[in-house]
Amino acid sequence: MNPPSTFDIKGIAKFIFLHTIVVLALVGPATWAVSQFFYGYLQIAQSTNPHAIFWFITLLACGETLAFSPIMMIPTSATMRKLQRAQEQLERMADTDAMTGLLNRRGLEKAADALFDVAERRGETVAALIFDVDRFKRVNDLYGHDFGDETLRVLAAMLTQRFPVVGRWGGEEFLALIAVGCAEAAEAAEALRAEFAAREITLAGEALRCTLSVGVAAAVEPFYLAPLVSRADTALYAAKAGGRDRVVVAQAAADSPALAAA
Ligand code: GH3
Ligand code: MG
Ligand code: MG
Repeated sequence: MNPPSTFDIKGIAKFIFLHTIVVLALVGPATWAVSQFFYGYLQIAQSTNPHAIFWFITLLACGETLAFSPIMMIPTSATMRKLQRAQEQLERMADTDAMTGLLNRRGLEKAADALFDVAERRGETVAALIFDVDRFKRVNDLYGHDFGDETLRVLAAMLTQRFPVVGRWGGEEFLALIAVGCAEAAEAAEALRAEFAAREITLAGEALRCTLSVGVAAAVEPFYLAPLVSRADTALYAAKAGGRDRVVVAQAAADSPALAAA
């Protein structure tokens, strides 16, 4: 009998139950067989009271099994719970960007699936917003990598305030997903862009204001993250080409004419 591979409570309960059955099923007959052996031996040896010894050994073994099996399982289930917590913590870490505390790409993909499911049921539109820090390489070069990191942390904190589903898509690019149409998403993007541009970032006596370019795209079901992000990325590229520090909304996808009016 293998222990449960995933640490779900039902699996643990089933494992403990089966474990108890197996222990009782094996220990009972084994005890009986051993005691029979001693019984025969004692009879041959003409002991005074072989029956009493037989029952004594049998009851002792069964009592021990009944009493100790559950007790032995208490630390087992406590260990299982600890392992379950550790596994959940590892999963959270695997989905999180350590520097900003936001979701990483893997976490975003999972969150996108959940958001898409809900939006599909409600018949909602979903918008993807890609935020990219302008001339970030220059920030690193002129102010140092630590200052660059601080800039990303400040931006991450602002994004978290405004968008429930947001994460670090790559280096200095962040992706937010919201169940709204293009116009509303562009408004939200513009608000964030303006807030970030006005925010002075400071570290170790240095201070700087940075700007963002943002690409926005929206889709209706069926939802697929990759093409949605790709269209937002094209819009981001247009924002960069247009001079940076701006929001550009992608053209509606050819297969989503309904979005032209969104
Ligand atoms: P653009 O306006 O076209 O976006 O220019 P850019 O300089 O922002 O873009 P580019 O892709 O040339 O450079 C991105 C830089 O981001 C290069 C890389 O070193 C830096 N970067 C990526 N991840 C991190 C990070 O975690 N911390 C810091 N400090 N820098 C990072
Ligand atoms: Mg950049
Ligand atoms: Mg970039």
